[in-house]
Amino acid sequence: MSNPGDFAYTVKQQADIVRIVGDYVKLKKSGAQNFSGICPFHNEKSPSFSVHATKQFYHCFGCGVSGDVFSFVQKIENSSFPEAVRSVAVKLGIPLPKQNFSPGEANEASLRGKLLNLHEAATLFFEQQMRTPAAAGAREYLTGRGITDEVMKQFRIGYAPDSGSSLRDKLKSEFDEAALKQSGLFSWKDEAGGISAMYSKFRNRIMFPIANEQGKVIAFGGRIMDGAVEKEKAGPKYLNSPETPIYSKGRVLYNLDRAKEAIRKLDYSIVVEGYLDIISVFTAGMHNVIASSGTAFGEAQVKLLGRFSKNIIVNFDPDTAGAAATERSLAMLVEEDFNIKVITLEQGLDPDLFIRKRGAEAYQKEVINSRKYFHYLIDRAQAQFPSRTADSKVKALNYLLPHIQRVPSRIVRDELASEIAQRLSIDSAVLRQELKSAASSRTQKVKADAPAQQTSPAEKILIHVLLSQSKEDAAVQSNVHDVLTSEHLHEGWTTEPIFDALLHASVEELREPLQLALSDSDRSRLAALLMGSDEREDLTATTVRVALAAMRRPHIERALQQLQPQIDEAGRQGNTLELTQLSAEKLKLKRALDESMRAGQGR
Ligand SMILES: [Zn+2]
Repeated sequence: MSNPGDFAYTVKQQADIVRIVGDYVKLKKSGAQNFSGICPFHNEKSPSFSVHATKQFYHCFGCGVSGDVFSFVQKIENSSFPEAVRSVAVKLGIPLPKQNFSPGEANEASLRGKLLNLHEAATLFFEQQMRTPAAAGAREYLTGRGITDEVMKQFRIGYAPDSGSSLRDKLKSEFDEAALKQSGLFSWKDEAGGISAMYSKFRNRIMFPIANEQGKVIAFGGRIMDGAVEKEKAGPKYLNSPETPIYSKGRVLYNLDRAKEAIRKLDYSIVVEGYLDIISVFTAGMHNVIASSGTAFGEAQVKLLGRFSKNIIVNFDPDTAGAAATERSLAMLVEEDFNIKVITLEQGLDPDLFIRKRGAEAYQKEVINSRKYFHYLIDRAQAQFPSRTADSKVKALNYLLPHIQRVPSRIVRDELASEIAQRLSIDSAVLRQELKSAASSRTQKVKADAPAQQTSPAEKILIHVLLSQSKEDAAVQSNVHDVLTSEHLHEGWTTEPIFDALLHASVEELREPLQLALSDSDRSRLAALLMGSDEREDLTATTVRVALAAMRRPHIERALQQLQPQIDEAGRQGNTLELTQLSAEKLKLKRALDESMRAGQGR
């Protein structure tokens, strides 16, 4: 939340949300004040993501996300509020003040800052250790893999000495114990009177720094020295940093900092498995190469990659131990609508080995000749079930169906169906039927996710009146405020919580209505309303009166319904006085109802 006087407030005043969002989403003008594009937060084909230039907020009509410039940056960069403020300030060239966060936020930001500095210091230490005699074996190994000094420098490859204390001793003058503990680089024993000993986790390993999108080192991957494998307690072949306040494995793509410009320019990425694969492919001149750090792609990683390009070439060996992880990654990519191609190198060769044996050009050829993922799958199905019997065809089909069902686009699914039908010589009608049942389960899911009821024109008008900042609307605004407060006309409507929040909001709060205390779905509905108010609504006294009448109608109808049994009862008892009073009341309500109907028709 930004208040006048805050640094965040100052930044927000100067930030143009259209420009900031435009760095991540291709925006097109769509209306006087609106821009729209493909939502970066959910999977879609036609744009339902809108940015309002004057009101300075965004809203997605598809998935319901909305907020201001900071909330956008927080979401897309997976950062905290203070980090988002800083990030926007940096983009705008606004100098950062020393103190602009709450104590809690300041602590968090300062710990993250410390950890970044600590990782930079550790990277320098490992690089420097690589030049010592103790690292002779490491250098020999890397040279043997074709890695030159220049490449070593570029990827900042270092060496963690076979010592539990040297890194700690190097860092402890500059960083406090809390930072060392949180860095993920050490293990220690807690004892009475403090911690007794703190040891390096990474020992006698080749160190690959893992950087965030901005190129800051946030973690390490350490490869064991071949000679050390036999040694006891040497640990796993690859050891990675644990999750820390600056490192979340599921949100990082290795080498993205170096690859992102090339991915954008070439409009595709190459995905390989290991550090050495990346280095080989990169050094061979293909700079658009990344890795998911050895595990399956997570949703956050896929979304992150999708920001740069949705075309991807995957280089993997389907028969390796990582096959299951690769399958999961591919499933996720298909669901997120990536256009996937596959490279399968000859048996037993990973990209690194292939390039060293056959050369960079041969690998480039493999990239050019990469096959569409679904063609690759059909080949696999046919290889596994080669017989032409009906039984074998069903098995092949069962193998393929789950893959096809993940494709979000019906058109693409239909195309695939015809292709598969042809290749497996299956009756395409049968196949289409299978796909249809898969498709209907999809549609149901989409429907369940869609936002609930529509907001009526009357609700819209009155909400706009309450939100209006224009002096011209002051009179109608105060009228609406009074009527709603005294008659509670908004009660029972889906927008009741929004009206409640607006009726109780201060003038300052009304300037930032999306910051009001509302549930996510109410906020989303309000954002949709705000986004729709492109042209200034004509909030004349008549329009407003009509809207109030429309809101009043269900209340009158309910009152009439409640009145009728009382009238009947008074009639049965022969209570003339009460009957007269109730009838008069009924007449009054009927007139009011007529009036509200007339008002409704007059629109
Ligand atoms: Zn969305």
